[in-house]
Amino acid sequence: MGEATTGQTSSPIRVGTAIDGLVTELIEVGRRAVASGYVLASGGNLSARLPGSDRFVVTGGGTWLDRLTPDDFTIMSLDGDVVDGMPTPSSEWKLHQRTYLARPDAGSVIHLHPEHAVLLDALGYPIRLITLDHVVYVGSIASVPFQPNGSDELADTAADASRDHDCVILAHHGCSVVGEDVAMAFRRAMNLEHAAIATYRALTLGDTGLTFPPGRLPAAGHA
Ligand SMILES: [Zn+2]
Repeated sequence: MGEATTGQTSSPIRVGTAIDGLVTELIEVGRRAVASGYVLASGGNLSARLPGSDRFVVTGGGTWLDRLTPDDFTIMSLDGDVVDGMPTPSSEWKLHQRTYLARPDAGSVIHLHPEHAVLLDALGYPIRLITLDHVVYVGSIASVPFQPNGSDELADTAADASRDHDCVILAHHGCSVVGEDVAMAFRRAMNLEHAAIATYRALTLGDTGLTFPPGRLPAAGHA
């Protein structure tokens, strides 16, 4: 599915290069995403833009997100070519590539399969922003119709939606979340799922309209 076809080399990504920090962060995000239940096994994929370049590093296809090592990453160009790295890139690499093209400010794209966010979206319930953290970190949420995984259609529709929303729900599939860096993208993805959990719990209690108090939107985040 959706493999890159040009320029692939046989060398693993080398420890000691400028991308080490990004790979280390993505390995930690993968471990925490699985441990927290935001994705299972090899579902989802993670990437980060290499600062000041037209390249990004992305998890390899079939990699389990809680078992990532530096050899499980591939460097790609924004043209869609494999630049360096042993593994075939994630079958969802186009989602990352198109999103970076649509969002020049994005330093990281995180694609997970969060249970509650996907369920609420499939049932037609909007995910509500209820707490201060939801408002500050999630901001706004788009939803795009189901498209086959790894397809140009999925990548293009999600990337287009990301122009106006940092969080995009891929119907019956998962989410695609951008941030200026890896930490913010993951923080945003976590808060998206927790907003969905809070919305789910509110619905089970019979509430259908609770949101963060209108008119009290915070000017900035807090520590
Ligand atoms: Zn997926």
